[in-house]
Amino acid sequence: MNITITRTNAPKPKPDTAQLGFGRYFSDHMFLMDYDKERGWHDARIVPYAPLSLDPASMVLHYGQEVFEGLKAYRTESGQIQLFRAIDNVRRFNRSNARVQIPEINETVFMDAMETLVRTDTEWVPDAPDASLYLRPFLIATDPFLGVRASDTYLFVIILSPVGAYYAGGMAPTKILVEDEDVRAVRGGTGYAKTGANYAATLRAQGRAGQKGFAQVLWLDALERQYIEEIGTSNAFFVIGGTVITPPLTTGSILPGITRDSCIQLLRKWGVPVEERPLSIHEIIDAANTDRLDEAFASGTAAVISPVGELTYKGSTVILHNNEIGPLTRRLYETLTDIQWGRVKDDMGWITVI
Ligand SMILES: *Cc1c(COP(=O)(O)O)cnc(C)c1O
Repeated sequence: MNITITRTNAPKPKPDTAQLGFGRYFSDHMFLMDYDKERGWHDARIVPYAPLSLDPASMVLHYGQEVFEGLKAYRTESGQIQLFRAIDNVRRFNRSNARVQIPEINETVFMDAMETLVRTDTEWVPDAPDASLYLRPFLIATDPFLGVRASDTYLFVIILSPVGAYYAGGMAPTKILVEDEDVRAVRGGTGYAKTGANYAATLRAQGRAGQKGFAQVLWLDALERQYIEEIGTSNAFFVIGGTVITPPLTTGSILPGITRDSCIQLLRKWGVPVEERPLSIHEIIDAANTDRLDEAFASGTAAVISPVGELTYKGSTVILHNNEIGPLTRRLYETLTDIQWGRVKDDMGWITVI
């Protein structure tokens, strides 16, 4: 598919790379593509970054028919720009689309759109240590119609945001609150899809936890309120007696993280035992009480790996690894970031150079 490019004649000043934070600045251009029943996906274009004009009746605003993704472009020491496992984000996007009745996007067109946009805004890929360019593809239902059904028209957008080192003061263990009232996702629901409505449902618990001084909540399963699901918007890993345990994806209530899968693949390569199986909060507390809870961490694109220092459940707190970063947590973080920033050779086939 041909992508037309209209360049801005008013490029923005670049933000100070030391002050980037996450998701606060946006590059000079964005990618747009339209869908309707007659033409399918059409009119692929890169245009200057600007507000979208939407009919107030656009269905996405009322019924949340939306899907998004998140991945990063990295600048290596030699100045090369590369993406990490981007095709997996494309495939997950289409699985999310299928769940909320949005027509899929051709994988080649999607990859071409991301690569062409990053190339157009290549100066926006920061070169500060641990900084990167975050890509946010998303897709919204645009029929002006009030009534619950799948839309017949859609808009696909990709925007770019230069982001700073996630840990300003270096990676640090976090305090996690086990949430036992609100739930994030249910079996048969949309938990495995990256669709906006899933995140609105998490805001109340996140707000309450934040007020009490916790960085994130740990989500339990909706049915029995005992099996761990995710930590905030990241996947959860616990190391018990030398075995790494993460919940299985079979319930459909857990987002299949690409960082999660990368951790599992690396651990298997290293010969570390990994189990994808249900893990209850009681088993975790029991392991802590018998000195077998070695370490725990969360995985996701934004922070890559986030160590857990403390876990609070129904008022009692367990400390993990003396509130310090555990050895597997650190090894995974260093290996993944070394591959992403091109400091080591990628022998996993995860990197696309653009
Ligand atoms: C995006 C996301 C993750 C992490 O996925 P990655 O592909 O590793 O970034 C985990 N949980 C939720 C709920 C998410 O939205």
